[in-house]
Amino acid sequence: MSDLILFWHRRDLRLVDNLGLVAARQRSAKLVGLFCLDPEILQNGDVAPARVVYLMGSLQALQQDYAKAGSQLLILQGQPAQALPALATALSCPAVYWNRDVEPYGRSRDRAVAAALREVGVEVQADWDQLLHPPQQVMTGAGQPYTVYTPFWRNWQSQPKAEPVTIGEPSGLSGLNGLSESEQSAAEKAGVTPLPSANDLGFVWENALLLAPGNAAAQAQLDAFCDQAIQTYDEQRNFPAAPGTSILSAALKFGTVGIRTVWAASEQAKANSRSDETRQNIQTWQQELAWREFYQHCMYFFPKLAEGAYRKQLQNFPWEGSSEQFEAWCEGRTGYPIVDAAMRQLNGVGWMHNRCRMIVASFLTKDLIINWQDGERYFMQKLYDGDLSANNGGWQWSASSGMDPKPLRIFNPASQAQKFDPEADYIREWLPELRSLETADLVSGKISKSDCQRCGYPMPIVEHKVQQARFKQLYQQQKAG
Ligand SMILES: Cc1cc2nc3c(=O)[nH]c(=O)nc-3n(C[C@H](O)[C@H](O)[C@H](O)COP(=O)(O)OP(=O)(O)OC[C@H]3O[C@@H](n4cnc5c(N)ncnc54)[C@H](O)[C@@H]3O)c2cc1C
Repeated sequence: MSDLILFWHRRDLRLVDNLGLVAARQRSAKLVGLFCLDPEILQNGDVAPARVVYLMGSLQALQQDYAKAGSQLLILQGQPAQALPALATALSCPAVYWNRDVEPYGRSRDRAVAAALREVGVEVQADWDQLLHPPQQVMTGAGQPYTVYTPFWRNWQSQPKAEPVTIGEPSGLSGLNGLSESEQSAAEKAGVTPLPSANDLGFVWENALLLAPGNAAAQAQLDAFCDQAIQTYDEQRNFPAAPGTSILSAALKFGTVGIRTVWAASEQAKANSRSDETRQNIQTWQQELAWREFYQHCMYFFPKLAEGAYRKQLQNFPWEGSSEQFEAWCEGRTGYPIVDAAMRQLNGVGWMHNRCRMIVASFLTKDLIINWQDGERYFMQKLYDGDLSANNGGWQWSASSGMDPKPLRIFNPASQAQKFDPEADYIREWLPELRSLETADLVSGKISKSDCQRCGYPMPIVEHKVQQARFKQLYQQQKAG
């Protein structure tokens, strides 16, 4: 009789192309999955209901995949450092496997769990799975972590990428053995519970998700994107009204698709393409995957990024915007149509187009002169793909507080709309009250007072030029001081 091994899932909610899970399977066919609903994460006040709906749906799909493979996914609720050793002991399980994380909380939690498991005689095995290149693999010539993206990308892309990992059937694991009846009852005594819904956990989200949860939906989305939109990605990705991007961010955040599978699909699309132009479009998408890894490496090596500004000038910055202005930004009532459309998209579907994330982040920090960390938190409370490293990286980039060689970047909302939403299709989609207005007015944001009154839309709450000058002045003062 082989040993029972537990595999602890966190950001790898799939059976296919999962490095740690394959290692666990190599050790034993009596392999049971585990997910722990951690109150430290679920109750920290920054959790988007849409994200919990995606998570719970993906766990449900994973339970079904385990059942098909002959085993099961167990659900625990509680502090992992107590819940996991209790379960492993109850099941006389000799080893727990998992994949490693880059985030400060995840790393300290894992250290605590590993210590607690070892104390009760349970072995721990941890692999890297969520990155094509784990942190120590992409370093400068001097052996230091990169703080600038372009040289990081050059090094990262020059390194060979691993193929998707499989055992036996490419569709994932099969022929597993789950718990016996007596083990099942021991597991329940040790705290294993049925999978709750997002509603049971107090998270209410009734709108549809952009991408359905689980591995099958993520794989289908990847296939569809690599068949078509990837070929014009570079040309289309900046237009928020166009379906030009992959919408895979939540899948990559929760690992419902493996990063090696994603890379292989993009390489296959490259191999199938007939022109250098198409190959360039695909490479631009691969550069986005490298941004994802860059920010995760940064978070791993510089965990203080999670707490505040990297750049001195932006530490203790004299932010001066009001709470009313912050509320207007959150609710899409600033009087700047492109900003308001984007915030309504965020509030409506729990996702926002990347171009618009940059526009609204610049507007919050440079036009309203409000602390970027308030925006970072609001995004985490709304985004179904909310991810500490990517979100923090995006906000620090936009706020000029991060690791960016060109720090003082200020977006003009009108020029951004003129360039990226020239027909105001996106603005009209998310601001239906303005649908009847002239495109030129929507894009420039110059809507007359009478039109604003008629449509029930606010006049601009600040003036871009004035605020831009004010921000520059404060920035220079900080720099000098
Ligand atoms: C202020 C701000 C906050 C952001 N917050 C998040 C966040 O919480 N979670 C998140 O996944 N992305 C975040 N991003 C990055 C980016 O906006 C999203 O990844 C992207 O819009 C997701 O859509 P997509 O899957 O269609 O992306 P695609 O354009 O198809 O890109 C493919 C994948 O690459 C990764 N990626 C793309 N752009 C970036 C980037 N700039 N930084 C890091 N990874 C990237 C994502 O995993 C994405 O799914 C943020 C960007 C900004 C400017």
